[in-house]
Amino acid sequence: MSRTLPVQKNEYIDVVFEDLTHDGAGVAKVEGYPLFVPGALPGEKGQIKVIKVNKGYGIGRLIEIHEKSFYRVDVARSESHKYGGCQLQHMNYEGQLKYKQNQVEQVLKRIGKLENVKVHPILGMENPWHYRNKAQVPVGERNGELIAGFFKPRSHEIVDTNESLIHTPEINEAVNVVKETCRKFGIQAYNEENHTGVLRHIMARYGMKTGELMVVIITRTRELPHKNEIIEKILERLPQIKSIVHNVNFKRTNVIMGDQTTVLWGNEVIYDYIGDVKFAISALSFYQVNPVQTKVLYDKALEYAGLTGEEKVIDAYCGIGTISLFLAQKAKRVFGVEVVPEAIDDARRNAELNGITNAEFAVGEAEIVIPKWYKEGNTADILVVDPPRKGCDEALLNTIIEMKPKKVVYVSCNPATLARDLRILEDGGYRTVEVQPVDMFPSTSHVECCALIKLIE
Ligand code: SAH
Repeated sequence: MSRTLPVQKNEYIDVVFEDLTHDGAGVAKVEGYPLFVPGALPGEKGQIKVIKVNKGYGIGRLIEIHEKSFYRVDVARSESHKYGGCQLQHMNYEGQLKYKQNQVEQVLKRIGKLENVKVHPILGMENPWHYRNKAQVPVGERNGELIAGFFKPRSHEIVDTNESLIHTPEINEAVNVVKETCRKFGIQAYNEENHTGVLRHIMARYGMKTGELMVVIITRTRELPHKNEIIEKILERLPQIKSIVHNVNFKRTNVIMGDQTTVLWGNEVIYDYIGDVKFAISALSFYQVNPVQTKVLYDKALEYAGLTGEEKVIDAYCGIGTISLFLAQKAKRVFGVEVVPEAIDDARRNAELNGITNAEFAVGEAEIVIPKWYKEGNTADILVVDPPRKGCDEALLNTIIEMKPKKVVYVSCNPATLARDLRILEDGGYRTVEVQPVDMFPSTSHVECCALIKLIE
């Protein structure tokens, strides 16, 4: 097969990079055959080694850059900075924002066939570093010593890391303290291959507004050896800590958290705020990882909803009710729908915590619950959707088209599925008025958008 392709596996070739993929790899073409090369930027020239050839595309490794992009920054201060899911950290922030803006505009045209939609300039962060309020760090062993950091891309090798450039300093410190403490007491690292050992992951969460800190120690074994000494040491070194949690995951799995969770010290939850809304965050709860930009995104969603106090709003894919509770401050009633029952428990608890009485929550799939409500005569003036990467289920979009809410506010973490869904709504009598990209995840290739869609009267 590979004989018909213009490149061979293991071949070294010089290429020119023209573009970036949606996940931030450089794209070079050889006789029309695309090669995806992580770490390369558009406009650059360099040598690559072809490491994989598929029918429609190949994968290369960047060997040497002959001509650098204007946007390239040197991040390789230490090896560890190269990893950790930061596909774009070799690009300066101006370049990242430009790339994300362009991606949204292109995808709306190409997939959504939306030629004249107003796409506002992306809202970036003033300081795009140290923004993440949560870390989940895998633990391993090197030369008999406990290490924790990041998996090297496409491998199971862990790179020991003490400082992540995207986690808050408090999170970095918390992870380091737990790592050093466990090292000191000789805790064995989990061994993925043999499914032996003890410590699998270290997790830390930080309330940026409240300063409250939680650490979660995830082990394969039911017992954490030297438990009391470890707790004591952590308390001594992290005085702002509010919660130390132990989670047991004895399964052979990539899933980080197991089924058994116990509080070793302090509270079961920490608190944080987005705007004026207070959230209780437990070890297992979903909570937005960049609260600063979450506020920017939700303010935009609220602005697009344009609430006067009279509206009935449905918030589909509501998670722990973050958007619902934001909307409830300005709407008559809000109905949130979410498939994960524990998230709905959190949503109800968070409504109560904030004294919000006009928000109700239901467990179920949005594409089943909302059509059922519609059949029973329960409609809404505004629909807010915030689906996972795969976008909205078509059954939900069809119900929206039948129900005819005046407005749909679409919060999206994947421009491609946003564009696909906007096309369906447009064909069903809606018009996309404007789209606001928001940079929730600097240094990564992820891009978030909020779109306003109106029913054509
Ligand atoms: N709006 C929330 C969460 C958005 S993430 C926030 O901003 O915090 C998307 C959510 O959709 C997740 O909580 C996921 O569990 C949920 N989900 C996934 N598929 C779903 C479906 N078919 N119906 C309802 N919820 C779903």
